[in-house]
Amino acid sequence: MKRIVVLGAGYAGMRMVKRLAAAKVDAQIVLVNKNPYHYQSTELHEVAAGTKEPADITFDVAQVFAKKKNVRVVIDEVTKVDQDAKKVELKNSDSLSYDYLVNALGFESETFGIKGARENGWPLIDVDTALAARKHLEDTLKRYKTSHDANDLRIVVCGAGFTSIEYLGELVYRLPDLAKEYGFPLDQVKIDCIEASPKILPMFNQNLADWGVKFLEGKGVTFHVSTPITEVKPDAVMSNDTAFPAGTIIWTTGVQGSHIIADSGYDQKRNRVVVEDDLRVKGQPDQFLVGDVSAVPNPDNGRLYPTTAQISIAQADCAADNLVALINGGTTKKFVFKSLGTVCSLGPKTGIASIDMMGHWNLKGWLAAVAKKMIADRSALELADIRTMLESD
Ligand SMILES: Cc1cc2nc3c(=O)[nH]c(=O)nc-3n(C[C@H](O)[C@H](O)[C@H](O)COP(=O)(O)OP(=O)(O)OC[C@H]3O[C@@H](n4cnc5c(N)ncnc54)[C@H](O)[C@@H]3O)c2cc1C
Repeated sequence: MKRIVVLGAGYAGMRMVKRLAAAKVDAQIVLVNKNPYHYQSTELHEVAAGTKEPADITFDVAQVFAKKKNVRVVIDEVTKVDQDAKKVELKNSDSLSYDYLVNALGFESETFGIKGARENGWPLIDVDTALAARKHLEDTLKRYKTSHDANDLRIVVCGAGFTSIEYLGELVYRLPDLAKEYGFPLDQVKIDCIEASPKILPMFNQNLADWGVKFLEGKGVTFHVSTPITEVKPDAVMSNDTAFPAGTIIWTTGVQGSHIIADSGYDQKRNRVVVEDDLRVKGQPDQFLVGDVSAVPNPDNGRLYPTTAQISIAQADCAADNLVALINGGTTKKFVFKSLGTVCSLGPKTGIASIDMMGHWNLKGWLAAVAKKMIADRSALELADIRTMLESD
């Protein structure tokens, strides 16, 4: 019997294993993940701001597959893929050999080599980093009551991409409650968002982007566009000679793929590998790369697709079908992606959305927030499959 090893229980890895298990392919499926739980990374900003708890965005991986006899879950950290020996090296247990490998190890924070970013910025990458960012923010705001140091009330969010904007939305929603709890003057809190490019939310049309920016500005956020960050100090973010003082620096400038990609000798850029059109690795016909570790050119314009949960899930579906076809002696198909649109929350109650389902819809306000919640709930339901957990045998 063949052994398929899937690395990472994120959106791509979970979806992959669910689809392979459902296909009843004649193979043993081994899913390796460093934590016993899956986390909805699209909701990490909510944990970081304190509007959600880790329990709201996580579920137990082994429990999801408990009834699947052909699935084994290994909780361990991957340290390297030995592509020549077809083995995965693990931190705490013996290496795992594979016939087929699916690498879905996901994303890590990108610092672009900016001095001090790693040491002084708080990234939002997983549950631990989101909780650490939250603790630092709350401790710093709380300290103001005794320190009276204006810097304790200053927050800088680095980058104005999706994660930054969604974090800002949760932050401005949460601050009034924190002010009550910790007794700091809400009107003296200063929030700066610093972005190198001239545009904010470029993936939306101008009207929606302006609405989102105005909403956040109305809640006290100041945007600084065309402002490249050159250094991150412990108490300030620098753009050349301009300092943006801050007691809390949130580092959400962008992501790269898992460092295991470079460590394992893949031909990569920012730990992402340009894959073949059936999602296999060039020269490694037994290996698929899906999710944020892969880079897939959009055939319409030749540019790489952005890294999103939506694409990760679509890739997993395609790669699972291709893997089943290979095992059954069939042929693989090309990955084709049809975007369902983009939704950006601005706190739990509002947002902006550009949706391509049954027509094209531009939404702003509470309807966009409802759309975001529906997508997140559906994704959790599909990945965790509540039904499998409730079945009696
Ligand atoms: C705050 C935030 C909001 C976002 N919002 C959206 C959104 O609204 N819509 C959207 O489509 N996308 C969104 N994204 C992007 C989306 O989260 C990613 O594109 C998606 O998570 C990628 O899925 P993945 O399965 O490739 O990787 P991941 O979700 O990163 O999963 C990787 C898994 O591998 C595990 N792992 C990592 N390293 C190791 C190791 N060495 N050994 C063992 N296990 C390991 C991790 O613990 C994790 O379980 C958002 C991202 C963030 C951070």
